[in-house]
Amino acid sequence: MSAVTLDGAALARRMREDLQPEVAAFTARAGRAPGLALVLVGDDPASHVYVGSKRTHGAEVGFRVDLHQRPADTSLDAVLALVRDLNADPAIDGILVQSPLPSAMGPDAARRVFEMIDPAKDVDGFTAENVGRLVQNREGLVACTPAGIIELLERQGVTIAGRRAVVIGRSDIVGKPMALLLLHRHATVTIAHSKTPDLPAVCREADILVAAIGRAGFVTPEFVKPGATVIDVGMNAVTSEADVIGFFGADSKRHEGWRKRGSVLMGDVHPAVAEVAGALTPVPGGVGPLTIAMLMRNTLTAAERRVR
Ligand code: NAP
Repeated sequence: MSAVTLDGAALARRMREDLQPEVAAFTARAGRAPGLALVLVGDDPASHVYVGSKRTHGAEVGFRVDLHQRPADTSLDAVLALVRDLNADPAIDGILVQSPLPSAMGPDAARRVFEMIDPAKDVDGFTAENVGRLVQNREGLVACTPAGIIELLERQGVTIAGRRAVVIGRSDIVGKPMALLLLHRHATVTIAHSKTPDLPAVCREADILVAAIGRAGFVTPEFVKPGATVIDVGMNAVTSEADVIGFFGADSKRHEGWRKRGSVLMGDVHPAVAEVAGALTPVPGGVGPLTIAMLMRNTLTAAERRVR
């Protein structure tokens, strides 16, 4: 058996195409385009790539996108002041502060910055108000990665109600909101984490298995019930040639990619899972593009709520 590939990149493209006329209608009605502010502090290379993509796709759907780039030694107070200004700017509907923030800002910096964002402009869905609304299943802005996964499952016709779902990972940005969204759609949900005993057996219960761990190839076939839908959230850079050969084989395209770049991107799910799962998201080209498409959707939603 070979799993059906759930093509997140293709769905994200369709979602952006669907958004374009809605953005044009908003712009005509409001007399301005929806405004998205991206705040990027420091020089984390992955963050620069993510923010670049968000900027390109935002412009493509018709948003005004403002990039606020600051050096790594920027103070926490300066970032908080910038967010306050963006909260007050009537032309800005969505504010995204790219994480991670530089570690020199202190362990609590991200939380303090996220909490400063006006919940009506919190297009990442990270503020306590939006998280509380999600817990209560009320209207709000929902974290983009789990919201994108739900969009994918629903558009692919994967039944959620009445199914068993296991989410590996309990982060505030992926694991917990993912579990809540599945719960609100009537799945029976287990959240697993690093202290869960006999994790493979717990995961084998799942009709829908979401891996949000951050460890390359961690989820092996013994974690997967035959025919299950497996969603791979992980984005891991694998730099060891031995690991790349171990996961993909010496004659694989990934090994060829490693020879050129010294690194390959892979998810939390081992490639051999494709032989057991019924459907599987690839990495790259699965959850990542959906996350960005949902950011665009959230920004338009925020804009529409602000002008109505
Ligand atoms: P995180 O905050 O580091 O959380 C990781 C979770 O995995 C934690 O809850 C941790 O458990 C659990 N975990 C770690 N080792 C484990 C083990 N051996 N067994 C079981 N559980 C284990 O990470 P995150 O921010 O949620 O991100 C997870 C992954 O998704 C990363 O690779 C990240 O790059 C990727 N990601 C991708 C997107 C996208 O758009 N595609 C978006 C966000 C994140 P404890 O709580 O017990 O420590």
